[in-house]
Amino acid sequence: MMAADGGSTVMIEKEFPKTEKRKTKYDVIIIGAGPAGYTAGIYCSRARYDTLILSGVLPGGQLVNTTEVENYPGFENGIMGPDLMITMRKQAERMGTTIIDDEVIDVDFRHKPFKILTASEEYECKAVIIATGASPRKLGIVGEQTFGGRGVSYCATCDGPFFRNQEIVVIGGGDSAIEEATFLTKFGSKVHIIHRKDTLRASKVMQERALSNPKIQMHWNSVVSDIQGDQKVQNVILSDIKSGQKTTLPAGALFVAIGHEPNTKIFVDRVELDEQGYIKLQDHTKTSITGVFAAGDVHDHRYRQAITAAGFGCMAAIDVDRYLTETKS
Ligand code: NDP
Repeated sequence: MMAADGGSTVMIEKEFPKTEKRKTKYDVIIIGAGPAGYTAGIYCSRARYDTLILSGVLPGGQLVNTTEVENYPGFENGIMGPDLMITMRKQAERMGTTIIDDEVIDVDFRHKPFKILTASEEYECKAVIIATGASPRKLGIVGEQTFGGRGVSYCATCDGPFFRNQEIVVIGGGDSAIEEATFLTKFGSKVHIIHRKDTLRASKVMQERALSNPKIQMHWNSVVSDIQGDQKVQNVILSDIKSGQKTTLPAGALFVAIGHEPNTKIFVDRVELDEQGYIKLQDHTKTSITGVFAAGDVHDHRYRQAITAAGFGCMAAIDVDRYLTETKS
């Protein structure tokens, strides 16, 4: 199901039916549509709350950019990430959740009802669940932006097929980097993993798979210091962090897989965030604002799994139910 042509985002847009806007006042508004958001939608709607999910620009969250998910319980033979998200979305809709593919640009949590703003609409609700997830971290070097879409990518499943028979560079030492590198061996003539340490953070099973792959070459204690090319990426400059020695690696693509940052820009000064920008929680899923809850990668930088995000979505919905029941009486 995950397109061999890699166009996962495009595919999702086609498969997700747009839901008509019916009204602007809801009991619960869930911001974000990854495993946390959809699960919260399922639970809130099942508890008979009038529930809206504002899904943002990438319905399905990070899993729409994943290939096979082997560790989500209930799927004996694994399931493709986009399929899992489409199924969750349909389940939420079947329970009665309204889903609108619109991006939230601001929130007003100072008074009740809370106000949620998109470019085209102002919504009101009694309770909010923030489930906006996290986005790929940027490298922050010169050339990263210049060559964005011209060889620099953050999604192997989306862009890998563009680099058939070329040498490909992947940066990072976690599960994402190792998974992406392994996937990219389907297309590239060779895949170089650049890691700033001499050990990987990735799980043992994924390490073994990658390190035994003859198409993968490891470059330990190295960072990418420059990206060169004319119109597209042609060379990646590596610096050995111990010796400082620079090496030119001819490559057509550079995949950055160095972790994620929480999607909390619109919540700055609206709810309390920690020093890394993740939403701070107290008493399970409660944020610093009474009536506003959070679930998933937007607060959780420890587990960051689809299953834990879904679990947090369930918890937030149950907390919303308790809150709305208490405030009614
Ligand atoms: P991680 O935070 O686990 O790893 C990030 C990697 O990038 C680390 O090796 C880190 O190096 C490196 N890094 C960070 N910043 C920089 C930088 N500026 N320059 C160079 N390297 C840098 O992120 P992942 O996205 O890999 O994984 C996130 C979570 O998702 C994990 O819990 C992981 O297990 C999970 N996951 C699971 C998958 C699966 O089970 N199929 C697939 C993908 C992810 P250092 O080690 O030195 O800190």
